[in-house]
Amino acid sequence: MSKPRVAILGLGIMGGGMATRLLSAGFPLSVYNRSRERAAKFADAGAFVAASPREAAARSEIVIGMVADDNASRSMWQGVEGALAGAQPGSLLLESSTLSVGWVRELAAAAGQKQCEFLDAPVTGTKPHAAAGELFFMVGGSAAGFARARDVLSVLGREVLHLGPNGSGALIKLINNFVCGVQAASFAEAIALVNGSGLDREKCVAVLASSALASPLIKRMLASLASDDFTPNFPLKLMTKDIGYAINEAAKCGLPLQTAAPALEVFKHAVEQGLGDQDFSAVVKSVRKN
Ligand code: NAP
Repeated sequence: MSKPRVAILGLGIMGGGMATRLLSAGFPLSVYNRSRERAAKFADAGAFVAASPREAAARSEIVIGMVADDNASRSMWQGVEGALAGAQPGSLLLESSTLSVGWVRELAAAAGQKQCEFLDAPVTGTKPHAAAGELFFMVGGSAAGFARARDVLSVLGREVLHLGPNGSGALIKLINNFVCGVQAASFAEAIALVNGSGLDREKCVAVLASSALASPLIKRMLASLASDDFTPNFPLKLMTKDIGYAINEAAKCGLPLQTAAPALEVFKHAVEQGLGDQDFSAVVKSVRKN
């Protein structure tokens, strides 16, 4: 059976890896990125580089958004040159960016008006997982839409899970990431305390790395610290965005996230210090004793 024509909107760390993965699996691919220079290498690899999200969507049966935040996503889908304007009735539209539940539901309604199926399908996993097809997709939308998306998502991910109606994927992703953010912020404070206390840092790090707190996330932070390499796999400013979105979603449910609020302050402080484009693990550089 011939493979469906797919579009990827957004060729950053994650979208770029996903596009490369689809090209190597033989999917006819159109791509769009706000800054065109980022798209050039995908043309060399066989993708059609569209001049607008609208053009990318018009050429495709499946359209996947993978951009920074709500504003970026709105600019991909809405407006005269947006993907919704170009999408053919019957197309399958997905958002894999980490977004607010409110925007995802609004987008689902707008897609419905165009007779398109919409799924929120955010991911866990980071740069190497995107490139290797090892993401974990958390999908919100209809069972029929999920069934249609399975084949392409299975090329991009090791796990594809249907959570429920539109917004379900977006919400569990924010729940996941606020806990990651809290963990990362408290670990930054732990390292600052070690550094400021006169303890032997190397020995302390060895203790922390082998204790129960050494989650995959903390291990990533320890690796960045050890190598002093904070090249972004997951940019710090995006973790900041996710914690903020999670706080807003929880507030709508009448639940103030009491651990997320100070974690957000730690991350905002790191952004103010110019660390936003570095890996989230660079939050360790922003916490110091006075
Ligand atoms: P990234 O490398 O910073 O790429 C961001 C993408 O969004 C770029 O294509 C960028 O275009 C585009 N963009 C930003 N602002 C825009 C705007 N106002 N209008 C149009 N396009 C805009 O980010 P990423 O790491 O790939 O993350 C993409 C999404 O996946 C985010 O929602 C993030 O939270 C989520 N996510 C990331 C990871 C990770 O480990 N990196 C893991 C899970 C989920 P330009 O090239 O023109 O700037």
